[in-house]
Amino acid sequence: MQENFSLKPYNTFGVDVKAKYFIEITTIEELKEAICYSKNHNLKILFLGGGSNILLTKNFEGLVIKLSLKGIEEKDLSENKVLVTAKAGENWHEFVMYSLEKNYGGLENLSLIPGNVGTSPMQNIGAYGAEIKDTFVNCTVLDLENLELKSFNLEQCHFGYRDSIFKQEGKGKYVILEVSFTLTKKDHHIKTEYGAIKTELDHLGITNPTIQDVSRAVINIRQSKLPDPKVIGNAGSFFKNPTIPLTQFEELKLKFENIPGYPNGKVVKVPAGWLIEQCGWKGKQIGNTASHQLQALVIVNATGNATGKEIYDFSTEIINSVQKKFGIELEREVNII
Ligand SMILES: Cc1cc2nc3c(=O)[nH]c(=O)nc-3n(C[C@H](O)[C@H](O)[C@H](O)COP(=O)(O)OP(=O)(O)OC[C@H]3O[C@@H](n4cnc5c(N)ncnc54)[C@H](O)[C@@H]3O)c2cc1C
Repeated sequence: MQENFSLKPYNTFGVDVKAKYFIEITTIEELKEAICYSKNHNLKILFLGGGSNILLTKNFEGLVIKLSLKGIEEKDLSENKVLVTAKAGENWHEFVMYSLEKNYGGLENLSLIPGNVGTSPMQNIGAYGAEIKDTFVNCTVLDLENLELKSFNLEQCHFGYRDSIFKQEGKGKYVILEVSFTLTKKDHHIKTEYGAIKTELDHLGITNPTIQDVSRAVINIRQSKLPDPKVIGNAGSFFKNPTIPLTQFEELKLKFENIPGYPNGKVVKVPAGWLIEQCGWKGKQIGNTASHQLQALVIVNATGNATGKEIYDFSTEIINSVQKKFGIELEREVNII
């Protein structure tokens, strides 16, 4: 266990805050010991995966537990289906690449999402027309109250758009240890309808794409659109796309005729990036923090010296201006610590 430990290399915003105590665990026994230690010493705990969905706003006066449980297991389910289970500390993108090397289908649209497998259920990670709930079977967690193992199946996880039980009533109660997915071995369901996948495949000269081709297209698109945290600190989309009542959307449409929206029954999902851009934030910098010039939804540590508080205050200003112009309350996707 380390004391007064800098978390700068452990969060993709590159914010320099210190943890009072820090430990990296590789087994469940070590994890249990660390949790007991924090209970005995009355320390708050922060679990850390890849640090790609957190904003650290101040020093953490407790114990940060970096989850580095590793391993992938497979079980044949049928001629066409395989159950693949990965431990929490496996890197998500490497896990996707592993599945594609084996020609297992289902995760290809989720290529290049940063972070770890153990965190993927937290916000039901999603991109390019897929979410983990599409292939998720269950996850094993450790109950922090009694240190017993428990399993959550698809239904029990209450997955929603960037949401799950682990961000709602289960928040702070469990640590996810491993996640299982059912993947296809053949007759893969190729999903190319979303975003620019088809255009990118055309560009690559591919007419009959494999799951590996879809992954390559998604990687190319992501690399051209999203800032690489290794180059400029960020946590991907900072806000969720808001869902508003259809009546409110229709009223807004009278005033802002170009407002984009994706209706679903009596509600409409509006792209947060568009709203933020309309308020003049795209590419705008205040001090060390900016909205990215290619994607207004992404807040970046522009100089590398931004504090978590600066980034948080910047996000509050965005929320206030979107509220003022459109009467829509943006919700942060990133976990504020
Ligand atoms: C450039 C970029 C692009 C991104 N694109 C996408 C995208 O397309 N789609 C998408 O959904 N997300 C995206 N994200 C967000 C991020 O990649 C995901 O949310 C990812 O799942 C976070 O994983 P992590 O391990 O880094 O989580 P961390 O940041 O380490 O943790 C996030 C939260 O989960 C908690 N936590 C971590 N591990 C566990 C565990 N095992 N058990 C319990 N709690 C835990 C932490 O305490 C924290 O509150 C992007 C981020 C970046 C930087």
